[in-house]
Amino acid sequence: MSARILVVDDILANRRLMKAKLEAKYYSVLLAENGHQALEMAQSEMPDIILLDVMMPGMDGYEVCRRLKENNDTAHIPIVMLTALSEASDRVRGLNAGADDFLTKPVDDFALMARLSALSRYNAVTSELRQREASGVRSGAFNDDEIDSLRREVNVLVVDTNPHNIKRMRGPLEAAGHSVFTLEEAEELRARGDKRLDIVVLGLSHQSYDPLRLCAHLRTSEATRALSIIVSVDQNDREIAARALELGASDVIQQPMFEEELLARINTQTKRARYVEILRNRVDRGLELSVIDQLTGLYNRRYMNNQLAQWMKRSAVGGTPMSVVACDIDHFKRVNDEYGHDAGDLVLQEFAERLLANVRPKDIVCRPGGEEFLVIMPETTGDLACSAGERIRRAIAADPFVVDPRQGAMIDVTVSAGVATFAGENDTAADMLKRADDALYRAKSSGRNQVMSIAA
Ligand code: GH3
Ligand code: MG
Ligand code: MG
Repeated sequence: MSARILVVDDILANRRLMKAKLEAKYYSVLLAENGHQALEMAQSEMPDIILLDVMMPGMDGYEVCRRLKENNDTAHIPIVMLTALSEASDRVRGLNAGADDFLTKPVDDFALMARLSALSRYNAVTSELRQREASGVRSGAFNDDEIDSLRREVNVLVVDTNPHNIKRMRGPLEAAGHSVFTLEEAEELRARGDKRLDIVVLGLSHQSYDPLRLCAHLRTSEATRALSIIVSVDQNDREIAARALELGASDVIQQPMFEEELLARINTQTKRARYVEILRNRVDRGLELSVIDQLTGLYNRRYMNNQLAQWMKRSAVGGTPMSVVACDIDHFKRVNDEYGHDAGDLVLQEFAERLLANVRPKDIVCRPGGEEFLVIMPETTGDLACSAGERIRRAIAADPFVVDPRQGAMIDVTVSAGVATFAGENDTAADMLKRADDALYRAKSSGRNQVMSIAA
């Protein structure tokens, strides 16, 4: 998986070397020699990943990182910090500035490629989701709740045939508030249908199971597909680690490993998983917002037009009947005038509920606007639609509507309805809606609280 990488380093020789290494792996490379240039290029070029040197004159890497993460346009771009200092505190500082990952200089080629391939995979998922979100309704930065939910304790499964390794990881993970499970414990959890697992740390160095097979299995089976898999390898297992990444492992840690590195990698994986989850929810929600009327939860005009056209086409091809019932509340303006707009809204909501309760599940109930409603009735003759309209009319008139929940004030509401039936392949949605409207007008002018239909 290829990607565009912005390399930020103040030393020319470092930039050249990094460019050569990356291009050899078919990445395309952009170069910046100081913090200001990096900020500009990130904004104008939108690279997929940024490799950022920490020690630079003027603006240092921490500051660049902080500014990139503060800017809504660039906040999503993963940043890998390159630190010459192997001190733990520097790594922690980088992560606090918002870096997504770090590497120690001199950069080890294997570690570099492992990081980049994991990030490219993650990018492929998130950029797809971001595009879909942008075409939907909402976009922009995360709100505080969403950001809070990025930090949370997780359930980590450690698979390793060496009990000593498990013990070494359990200490720091549990101290950081995470829960740690072995394979046997995870089996019990699953049998109980209990807690879900978030992350697997998979030891690759032992022989009693085939770690690559397990990795592929976890990645492809339904229950564990969303799990982050971190493989843990020692120096001699690089080949196998590279294959694990190809099979879908999310990250690699090399043993021996620092405690804070383990914790940082666990946090990064958690953050990424939550980020993907939030984006997915937003996309779903965006789709919902674009077809649902927010006051009543019914379908809006856009969806109504779309569905009407589709069902008419199906009727034209299949020869099945279909009808629509247009409803308009009688003298609705008086509700607003006498009881206020909020009372009017309550009536509209209750009206929507009664409508839904009096049609079949396959009928499509819409609120194209104001106090007008339309029910699309697939596979329904004009006669049946008229009886449905009549059933709706009665359900509205039968019981008064609450307009003031505190005082318990109620009013009587009635509705007029017009029915139109599909008139064959030359019929259009506009014509059909016009006939329903004409019928509705006749119902209004003949005294309201009645259902009329017009033959095509
Ligand atoms: P008719 O029996 O002829 O249909 O009379 P009507 O008063 O129901 O019809 P008219 O179209 O004159 O008035 C509709 C009113 O519905 C006017 C408008 O303020 C109100 N309305 C439209 N949308 C909303 C809404 O979302 N909430 C509330 N509370 N009122 C709304
Ligand atoms: Mg009305
Ligand atoms: Mg009206």
